[in-house]
Amino acid sequence: MSTAVVVGAGPNGLAAGAALARAGVDVTVLEAADEIGGGTRSGEAILPGLLHDHCSAIHPMAVGSGFLQSLDLQRYGLRWRLPEIDCVHPLDDGSAGVLHRSVTDTAVGLGADGRRWRQLFAGPSTAYDTLSEDILGPLLRVPRHPIRLARFGIPALVPATVLARTFTREQTRALFGGVAAHGFRPLHHPLSASIGLGILTAGHRHGWAVAEGGSRRITDALAALIVDLGGKIETGVRVRSVSELPRTDVTVYDLAPSAVADILGDHLPPRIARAYRRFRRGPGAFKVDFAVEGGVPWTAEPARRAGTVHLGGGFAEITANERAINDGHMPARPFVLVGQQYLADPQRSVGDIHPVWSYAHVPYGYTGDATEAITAQIERFAPGFRDRIVGTSVRTTTEFAEHNPNYVGGDIMTGAKTISQLVFGPRPTLNPYDTGLPGHFLCSAATPPGPGAHGMCGAHAAARALAHLRR
Ligand SMILES: Cc1cc2nc3c(=O)[nH]c(=O)nc-3n(C[C@H](O)[C@H](O)[C@H](O)COP(=O)(O)OP(=O)(O)OC[C@H]3O[C@@H](n4cnc5c(N)ncnc54)[C@H](O)[C@@H]3O)c2cc1C
Repeated sequence: MSTAVVVGAGPNGLAAGAALARAGVDVTVLEAADEIGGGTRSGEAILPGLLHDHCSAIHPMAVGSGFLQSLDLQRYGLRWRLPEIDCVHPLDDGSAGVLHRSVTDTAVGLGADGRRWRQLFAGPSTAYDTLSEDILGPLLRVPRHPIRLARFGIPALVPATVLARTFTREQTRALFGGVAAHGFRPLHHPLSASIGLGILTAGHRHGWAVAEGGSRRITDALAALIVDLGGKIETGVRVRSVSELPRTDVTVYDLAPSAVADILGDHLPPRIARAYRRFRRGPGAFKVDFAVEGGVPWTAEPARRAGTVHLGGGFAEITANERAINDGHMPARPFVLVGQQYLADPQRSVGDIHPVWSYAHVPYGYTGDATEAITAQIERFAPGFRDRIVGTSVRTTTEFAEHNPNYVGGDIMTGAKTISQLVFGPRPTLNPYDTGLPGHFLCSAATPPGPGAHGMCGAHAAARALAHLRR
């Protein structure tokens, strides 16, 4: 029987472990923290019984991940729940861009821009399950569905600022801009439209789902599957050197490239070690969880029914602030993402006190306190919010890195999504999962298709590892 060790039990490490164990490999997963899950952990933080997602919360990519679907994780307790409205982007005048799962409902609400929204999303979202075979992996390979990919890919090549100009209403531009900002990239850079288009297309097909009982249920289900298939998971094991690892046929690292360079040291080909050490980090996140009595009193009524609310004002304001954080400046009114997962999954609340998840985009390694900036952004679109706050729990950029070494400087994307890192991952190659050392593979969100709890980086790395075992 072939053997494998996976270093790191984030969703990609666990996905790689599950794919290897399913293929009959004897798998051991080693996790530095006392708890598995990496960016998919949940727990209490403010009040007993109030359940917060510590990192990932909203999962349009994971719910539609062909790989996760193939694992039938429902058998291990994973259930997806959808909010009534996927996402709302409120503006200062009380109006809002409203994203429904249905392209038609969204288009109707967007008025004059409805036709353009349909043009962009109706075809690709219907074909998403086949399209995702091309976009949720290395982009430089022969596409399985070239015509569909070309239709989706041409608008994705342009800067988000260019695509936004094809809309006429500020509500639509802001709605699109807020989703495009998920990439933490300056929105005037080429390819900056791609992440927004990908998330919106996936969401129109599968919805902006939350995991019932918290994102940790994704972790728990993957772990239960690995154990069921005979694998082992050990926590509290921080791997620092390859010499500490058991001798196995393959090793898969759910780590940032620089950490892999440290662990493999001189075993790594020098040019790859250099590329891993030069790997560029992205801006940071500063997170505040709130316990809120009666929920957030949004002025824009649809936001009261939405799983996700994006706060950044109009498109120009979002663009300026995303540029600022990429230049190392903290904006006065940063872009803030708010999650109201409890609307789809009410068991997370305690009576009328609800867990509200939020984080702001801040510069890499930001050392200030963004709590007031986040609170003020919510208050801006929901006057009276402050009076409803029962408690808060804060995670700074530094604390993110302590919680998970992959998130150095608060970079929760595991690397800047520059053109080259978005297309290739940590180095220009057709096989971004190969470390150049035979038998050793990289599976973290630093590889294509990048961040998210979809497990696709893990699945692709495991496929490379299995090909190596068959040689
Ligand atoms: C605040 C926040 C909000 C987010 N929101 C969303 C969202 O709504 N939707 C979404 O899809 N994604 C979201 N993400 C992103 C998502 O969580 C990550 O992209 C995803 O977790 C990456 O998975 P991974 O397996 O590559 O790595 P990680 O989840 O980073 O896991 C890596 C694991 O490796 C362990 N490790 C590190 N070094 C070592 C070592 N030396 N030895 C052993 N173990 C080690 C870590 O402790 C960790 O458990 C969010 C992330 C954050 C932080």
